[in-house]
Amino acid sequence: MFKVDFHCHTTSSDGTLTPFEIIDLAVKHEVKVLAITDHDTTAGYEQVIEYAAKKNVQLITGVEISCHWLTHTIHIVALDFSIDDSQLQQGLKSIRQARLERAQLMLENFQSKSPEKFIGFDAELWELVGDGVVGRGHFAQLLTKKGLAKNGAQAFKKYIKKGKAGYVTSDWPELAQVVNWIIHAGGVAVIAHPNVYRLTSNKLNRLINDFKEAGGQAIEVVNQPRHCSDIVGMADRAERHGLYASLGSDFHSPEHTWRGLGWLAPLPQKVSPVWKLFKTPLNSD
Ligand code: MN
Ligand code: MN
Ligand code: MN
Repeated sequence: MFKVDFHCHTTSSDGTLTPFEIIDLAVKHEVKVLAITDHDTTAGYEQVIEYAAKKNVQLITGVEISCHWLTHTIHIVALDFSIDDSQLQQGLKSIRQARLERAQLMLENFQSKSPEKFIGFDAELWELVGDGVVGRGHFAQLLTKKGLAKNGAQAFKKYIKKGKAGYVTSDWPELAQVVNWIIHAGGVAVIAHPNVYRLTSNKLNRLINDFKEAGGQAIEVVNQPRHCSDIVGMADRAERHGLYASLGSDFHSPEHTWRGLGWLAPLPQKVSPVWKLFKTPLNSD
């Protein structure tokens, strides 16, 4: 089996490589089929359709959508959908607007809590975001750059997570709504990084049931960095619930050396790979 990666980010959201650089990296890492899944935008993908074809990297349409389920923020990866579906694009646009509003409130929080510490913070943030979709990852990058945190993880812990100075609740669409957009656009909905939400096993089953009821069909069984036992456990769960299995690195930056583009364990034999649901056949070499 050739290498595939169905989850990664570019400068169109909170990644540090441009869409062109991601394609170059895919070539370097011998990834044959790639989905660029920026947060709530398809702009990065759209820039490199021709470039990827020229470089012999097959691109599958992708996007990672933030949504709300019970009290949790859940990420749903959409794959192989029609890029010009107006309902989906309209939905993504509304989430980008919500992200912008959240970032502005976060900036206000930082300014009001310690004005001297955060002088010029907003200008630097918008410079960092550039044309991309703003996310909390950008705040973490900037806090690290300014020496206010040792790394991204610490920045979240000290400043961004619930209960901290920068925290703002997010106004995402409901899970069922997002799954609906994806299906309407002819795509496949995938629960992203199911281990990241720290749900109990029962709660994860409940998420899966609600997701399936809305029409969701797949779950990430392999994503980095994960232990072998996590993969085996998630494969069992996927099989039990009749979900197809996806795999993706969630690559954001070459600095994250534990999370390389295409560096993924193969899917366990027992699961049905997500690409069986694609309308686009994978080019084999
Ligand atoms: Mn991200
Ligand atoms: Mn995510
Ligand atoms: Mn991601």
